[in-house]
Amino acid sequence: MSEKIDEILGYVLRDVTSSGLETPRIEPVDWYNDPQVSSAMIYSVRDSTGRGVSVQNDLSLDRQLVAVADQIQEWVIEEVGTTHSNWPQCPLHPNNHPLAARIVDDRGVWACPASNTPVARIGELGPA
Ligand SMILES: [Zn+2]
Repeated sequence: MSEKIDEILGYVLRDVTSSGLETPRIEPVDWYNDPQVSSAMIYSVRDSTGRGVSVQNDLSLDRQLVAVADQIQEWVIEEVGTTHSNWPQCPLHPNNHPLAARIVDDRGVWACPASNTPVARIGELGPA
């Protein structure tokens, strides 16, 4: 695992923690096998189901945050979709859709996918 993805995961997993969810165990497995890509494996603390996460090294920090936030969102929904299928919940439309990781004004944010309204920077999501 390169330090790069470790740092990006650190930001994104803050949002998982602030939602009261368990964060995954991170394993330093460089499964992608490409010097341009940082990769790691994440595992549920409840079972040994793992999934890979990866990010292109040459993207800006904000674009990396969006790429990893997207993968972590999929993981959360797979893990705890029964209770958190809307993670992270859109405060504007709590019953309709989760927020989406987007670039808005060159910043990596969680935004309402319907209106593209930024709700929080990735890593700075408050408690739901
Ligand atoms: Zn919305």
